[in-house]
Amino acid sequence: MTEIAIKLYGYPVTLPDGTQTTLRQKGHENHNGKGAFSKDVVRWMLQRFAYTGKITYVGFDDTGKYRSRQPPQEIFDGQHPALISQELFDQVQNMRISLGHNGRKIKDRQIRCYPLTGILRCGFCGSNLRGVSCNGKYFSYQDGSKIDAITRCRQGLVKQEWIEGAISKCIINPSCYLTK
Ligand SMILES: [Zn+2]
Repeated sequence: MTEIAIKLYGYPVTLPDGTQTTLRQKGHENHNGKGAFSKDVVRWMLQRFAYTGKITYVGFDDTGKYRSRQPPQEIFDGQHPALISQELFDQVQNMRISLGHNGRKIKDRQIRCYPLTGILRCGFCGSNLRGVSCNGKYFSYQDGSKIDAITRCRQGLVKQEWIEGAISKCIINPSCYLTK
C-alpha cells in the first residue's frame, strides 16, 4: 500500500495549460496537509473504477430508480489518464471478495474482519479508523493517521465489540444516540 501511495504521489499530471505537476501539488491537500497519500486514500482509490482511466454507466432499474452501489451496466474509455492498471484493479476486487468471506487463517486462527474500517472517522482529526488487534486478544479500531504516525491525535482506541454493537443498534433504530 505504501509503495503504491508513493508511486501515485510521484505521478506527473499535465494541466490544461501544459505545465506538469504531481497530484498532491495540484492543491488537493488532505486534512493533514501536503504529503504522500495515506493508506486509506489508496484503499479508496483502488476501489474506484475511474482511476483505471475508464468511466462507467450505472443506469436505472426497471422502476426508474438510479442503480446506486450496483455493478455498472456499461464501461467506456475515459479521456483521463489511468493511474491504476486494469489488472491491479481486478486483483484488488478479487482479493476484497475473497477476504470478505474471511476464509483466511494464520496458524489455525481465523483472521478477524473489521467491517467498519474505512467507514468510521475520528471526531478530532477526521482520519479513518482502522481495525487493530493487540496480542490477538483485544480488538479495537484506531485512528489511521496515528498508526501511520502522521498526527499525534488524542483519539484513543475504540473497542471493536462496543462500536460495532452500537452502530448496529443505530441501524436498527436510527433515532438512537451513541453513548458509552
Ligand atoms: Zn484523530
